[in-house]
Amino acid sequence: MDYPAINVKNVSFSYNSNPALQNLNFTIERNSFVSILGPNGAGKSTLVNLLSKVILPDKGEIFIEGKNIKELTHNEIAKKVAVVPQNTSLGFNFSVYETILMGRYPYLSRFKGEKPEDYNIVDEIMELTRTDIFKDKKYNELSGGEKQRVVIAQTLAQGSPVIILDEPTSHLDINFQIEFMELFNSLYKKQGKTIIGIFHDINLAIQYSEKIMFLKEGSIYCYGNVKDVLNRKNIMSVFKSDVYIGKNPFTGKLYVSPNFNLRYNFGKEKNEKEIKIHVIGGGGSASPILNMLNNSGYIVSTGVINNLDTDLYTAEQLGITFVNEAPFSPISREAQTRNVELIKNSDVVILPCIEFGNGNFLNLIAVDEAINSGKKVIIVESADISLRDHTGGDAAKLYEKIKVKGAFILKSNDEILNVLQNGEKGK
Ligand code: ADP
Repeated sequence: MDYPAINVKNVSFSYNSNPALQNLNFTIERNSFVSILGPNGAGKSTLVNLLSKVILPDKGEIFIEGKNIKELTHNEIAKKVAVVPQNTSLGFNFSVYETILMGRYPYLSRFKGEKPEDYNIVDEIMELTRTDIFKDKKYNELSGGEKQRVVIAQTLAQGSPVIILDEPTSHLDINFQIEFMELFNSLYKKQGKTIIGIFHDINLAIQYSEKIMFLKEGSIYCYGNVKDVLNRKNIMSVFKSDVYIGKNPFTGKLYVSPNFNLRYNFGKEKNEKEIKIHVIGGGGSASPILNMLNNSGYIVSTGVINNLDTDLYTAEQLGITFVNEAPFSPISREAQTRNVELIKNSDVVILPCIEFGNGNFLNLIAVDEAINSGKKVIIVESADISLRDHTGGDAAKLYEKIKVKGAFILKSNDEILNVLQNGEKGK
């Protein structure tokens, strides 16, 4: 049977009586790249120590490739899991070559020394990590960054299928940082290794990881594919820090940057308001409104938006509820039902200045139903409907009807907050 690389079941650990990890349950598949992220004290190092049997759980079980860690000797564990430590002080001063060769210790018997295979592996790894250029130097003569490269090489010499990185690149300059991340990435992609990393630099982590696990106060806050769990709301909750999440235009990968301007709004006002607002989305017109309302602490939802639409991307990044539809497809009955459900649950519906075609005509019908049921509806009309109607007149006709049924008509998005806060007076 093909067991996962790591299986953690109901694991808890306390230092004296202070709980550091509580009831962890997760699986890490073989041949994956997972980053563990969380603030200081979240329990990351404790977890690394548990996975490498430096400490044993107070409660629960840990399995490495299907074997209970309790039943494995330290040599057996070392053949399965290698930890690249943060700390590069080794407490002895052998040559670089000898130091790396020591990584082969789980394979050496007490009576026989290294075999030719061990030397071959070490040669290969020294080339891979570019430590061969100083192989005869003494370890203590190396710079901090060079030491770290040797420690990484020593760990790789262990040849284990699971490699745990405990902030391994913190002493390396940017070139070597990237070089080593590329190396770990190729061990994962080409050699089928499982890489589990703790990184301080969240951007470095997300460039390479397939999945991320957010740890908060000794528990898993969330764990999943980067695109599913990396959003502003989760980072806010785990790190208590507001960020902007963008997409690198060259690589298409996400990146995180601090968002100092919004820190105040996001933190303070969030709990004070409980007004739910549903914004009809599409074509990117809803994005500024979603962002503004979310920053001001309203509970926001949006729909129906086609996949690949900027508004959907915005909703995902803000971590708000949305209803989506396949790209370039008309709104399905099922999506419409979910959208109407969100509208029913909201206090206000906003219709941004969007274009209408046959594909999204149901969004306008949903607004009509909202106003019929007595819901407050705000319409942003910065351009005449006749310029935005691609249905041959049906959308314009319904739109005008909705207007006379008593919607608030605003000329621009800038007026929205004022109207929400001051009602009709704010118009
Ligand atoms: P992280 O690596 O995420 O910063 P740690 O695993 O080091 O978190 O710490 C988790 C919790 O356990 C913290 O509250 C920390 O103070 C405590 N802790 C860590 N190591 C020890 C220790 N050796 N003795 C007592 N408490 C510890």
